Amino acid sequence: MNDINKSYIMPTYGERDIEFVRGEGCFLFTDQNEKYLDFGGGIAVNSLGHCHPSIVNALKSQAEKLWHTSNLYFNSQQEDYAKLICQNSFAEKVFFTNSGAESIECGIKVVRSYHNYHKNYSRKNIITFEGAFHGRTFAALSAQNNPTYSNGFEPLLPGFIQAPFEDIESLIKMIDSTTAAILIEPIQGEGGIRPANLNFLRKIYKICKDNDILLFFDEVQSGFGRSGKLFSYEWANIEPDIIAVAKGMGSGFPIGACLATSKASIAMTKGTHGSTFGGNPLAISVGKVVLETILKQNFLNSVDLVARHLWNRLKQLEKKHEEILEIRGAGLLLGIKTKQKNSKVALEFKKNKLLSVTAADNIIRLAPPLVVTIEEVNTAIKIIDKTLDNIND
Ligand code: PLP
Repeated sequence: MNDINKSYIMPTYGERDIEFVRGEGCFLFTDQNEKYLDFGGGIAVNSLGHCHPSIVNALKSQAEKLWHTSNLYFNSQQEDYAKLICQNSFAEKVFFTNSGAESIECGIKVVRSYHNYHKNYSRKNIITFEGAFHGRTFAALSAQNNPTYSNGFEPLLPGFIQAPFEDIESLIKMIDSTTAAILIEPIQGEGGIRPANLNFLRKIYKICKDNDILLFFDEVQSGFGRSGKLFSYEWANIEPDIIAVAKGMGSGFPIGACLATSKASIAMTKGTHGSTFGGNPLAISVGKVVLETILKQNFLNSVDLVARHLWNRLKQLEKKHEEILEIRGAGLLLGIKTKQKNSKVALEFKKNKLLSVTAADNIIRLAPPLVVTIEEVNTAIKIIDKTLDNIND
């Protein structure tokens, strides 16, 4: 346990009890060589698991050639990677960032600049949803308007209006001539692993199309294969105007992006936005290999298969254990709602060498690497089962 009173690090994460020194596939190891099955995946980040040889090699080989030039100079790898993203999504333009919150910030700028370009000066407001999480920067805090994250940091920014989740009538009532965009996570992550109903997403899509409102998805957590498709919006058979991505994109290397159509990003011209590190050669070299791997034949099929296996096994445990109130989620982003405090149950999982992450609404989140095997899922299920057999009220 690190002593936060003696630490030189701002104690925003509280006390942290374990240090991992090595990772391999779905496993993490302490300096005592204690082995943990990682179903937290670095909070839905380690898409290819820990130290996947293909990304280790990509990073090593790039590190020996070139680290950083700034975005003042052309980078053909950046261009190739952006092309690959666009060829496999709705997007036509990419802006590279270093994190999810930065991708959200860029998306908000795309929204405002689009309506400004078209002289729709009243369209400034972005509608977001109760339970949303978009990050920790001021625009993201303002967008999610959740006191858990924003208390003490006021004033927040104007221009965001919050609607109840999955309530289409309330949403329709909120739309007026000031509405610029609707921003939604197709699968709420931090808010409690709540996948939005696909019909709800389709209705939002139609409202946006009919009213010149931009549809902006936050796929920071749900994107890059986590749902069993490259992007989770694909399940609804609709296409957004903008999405924010990060997390699984670099499988642990910090990289994010804002993706948009040419139409939506028409005003993102020279000088309107920038990032010193965004699209850095090291990040690009890793990101490109991660995407190429996800796009390989059968990769996403096997994510879907193993995800369904995890879902079915969890549903069996739900029947067996009163401690489980609900199983929810999609793909490899699943939540167990527990009767007792989620953090207490997650701690018991950890004592039994299974890592998970808590989320709001008393959820224990499972977001293992996308390369997790059926055997590893079975091991996790055994640990959950055994832990719940022995847990005391
Ligand atoms: N959006 C969603 C849906 C997220 O889950 C997160 C992080 O958990 C963010 C945005 C912010 O990402 P980052 O922490 O990389 O800034």
